[in-house]
Amino acid sequence: MSLTARFSCLNEYDPDALSVDQARTFIRSQLTPVGTHERLALRSALGRVLASDVIAPFNVPAHDNSAMDGYALRHAELSCNGASRLLVVGTALAGKGFAGSVGAGECVRIMTGAPLPAAVDTVVIQEMVQADGASVVVPAGQRRGQHIRLAGEDLAAGKPALVAGRLIRPADLGLLASLGCAEVSVHRRLRVAFFSTGDELCSIGTSLADGEVYDSNRYTIFGMLGRLGCEVLDLGVVRDHPATLEAAFREAAAAADVVITSGGVSVGEADFVKGLMAQLGEVLFWKIAMKPGRPMAFGRLGDGAHSAWLFGLPGNPVAVMVTFYQFVRDALYALMGADPLPVVPLLPAVCTAAIRKAPGRTEFQRGILSQVDGRWCVRPTGAQGSGVLRSMSDANCFVVLEHDRGQVAVGDQVQVQLFDGLV
Ligand code: AMP
Ligand code: MG
Repeated sequence: MSLTARFSCLNEYDPDALSVDQARTFIRSQLTPVGTHERLALRSALGRVLASDVIAPFNVPAHDNSAMDGYALRHAELSCNGASRLLVVGTALAGKGFAGSVGAGECVRIMTGAPLPAAVDTVVIQEMVQADGASVVVPAGQRRGQHIRLAGEDLAAGKPALVAGRLIRPADLGLLASLGCAEVSVHRRLRVAFFSTGDELCSIGTSLADGEVYDSNRYTIFGMLGRLGCEVLDLGVVRDHPATLEAAFREAAAAADVVITSGGVSVGEADFVKGLMAQLGEVLFWKIAMKPGRPMAFGRLGDGAHSAWLFGLPGNPVAVMVTFYQFVRDALYALMGADPLPVVPLLPAVCTAAIRKAPGRTEFQRGILSQVDGRWCVRPTGAQGSGVLRSMSDANCFVVLEHDRGQVAVGDQVQVQLFDGLV
C-alpha cells in the first residue's frame, strides 16, 4: 500500500490539523531500521546501536567473592549468644584466593574482591573484629551470607547481557568489557543528507548582498545530526528553482537514507514543491497543530536502492529545531534500529511568568529551568518568535504546553523537557 493510502486510512487524521502525537505516531509506524551491520572495536561502539543480543559467556562475577575487607568464616562456627574466637589460617586476596580448607574454629583474612574460600559463607568486616595475634574475636550478631557478592549477580552466564536495539552508553561499554567483548556488532551509521532552500540565503564565507540572510539552519541541523551520531552530507543552499531543486532532491535521495530540508513548505511555497515531489516520490504535506513548526512534509523520495525518507522542515530557524527534536530525532533513532527508549521525559516545574496560549495546538516555548528556593522553576527565554534563534541558544529546556491547555498564569505548573542529560 502506498504511503498516501496508509495515511488516508487513518480517517481521524486531518493533514491540515494533525496533532503532534498523531504526526509522531504515524511517522514512527512507517519506519523500519535501515542498513547493514558492522563489527566495531568496543570503544568505537559508543553511541551506536547494538545489532544483535550479547549473551554472557560466563558469570560476572565469576565466583562468589567478598564485598569488604575482613574475615571469611562459616556462620555455623559462631556462638549464638556471645563473641567467638577464631584462628586465622590464611589470607585471600583479589586475584589470589586461599586454596586451603577452613576447619572448625578457623577463619581466613579476606580482601574485597577475593574469591570466597570453599565452605565459607559469611564475611565479617575488619572494623567489627578484635584482631589478636593469630586469632580474631568476632562479636555476636553476624548474619549468614553478609558482605558476599554472589557469582553471576551482575551478569548471569547464558542470559542476554544487552539486547539488540540498545543505544550503547558508557555503562554498556564497561559492561561489555566485563564480559571480555573486544568487538560488537552494531547497525551502520545512518547517512543523512540535508540542504536549505531559499533565494534569500547566503552561505557563510561569502558576504551578504542586500536582502540576504545567512543560512543558519544547515548549522543547527549539522549539530543536531552530529549529536545523534549520523554520517552527514551537507548539500548547501539550493535556490527555489524547479530544476535546481529537483537535482538536489535526486542527489540527496541517491546518496542518503534520510533527506532533511528546511524552508519551502510554507503555504506560499508548498504548492511549487508539492508538484515536484509528486514526480520524485511520495510526500505528505501536513499542517501540524503546533507552534512553532506548523508546516512539515514527510515522505519517501525515489525508489529502490536510491530512495530515502524525506523530512521537509519549515524554514524558520526555531521551527527547524523544534520539528527536528519532536519528530526527526525519534524517527532517526527508529531507522538506526534503536529501541523506542530514548524518550525524553516531561517533568513538572513551576512557571514564573504568564504565558499566552490558546487551546488547540501544542506549543514548545523555550525556557530556562533553575532551582529557586528549593523548587524547580522555569521561565521563558524572552521573545519567542520562530525566527528568534537566541531563544533556543539561551534555553536549557522546552516548556511543553499541551494541546488542550489555555493560558498559563504565574505560579502554574507546566511541563518541561530538558535539552541535556547526564550521560
Ligand atoms: P520559508 O519556510 O522558506 O518560508 O522560510 C521562513 C523564514 O525562515 C524566512 O524568513 C526565511 O528567510 C527563514 N529561513 C529559511 N531558511 C533559512 C535558513 N536556512 N537559515 C536562516 N533562515 C532561514
Ligand atoms: Mg523559503
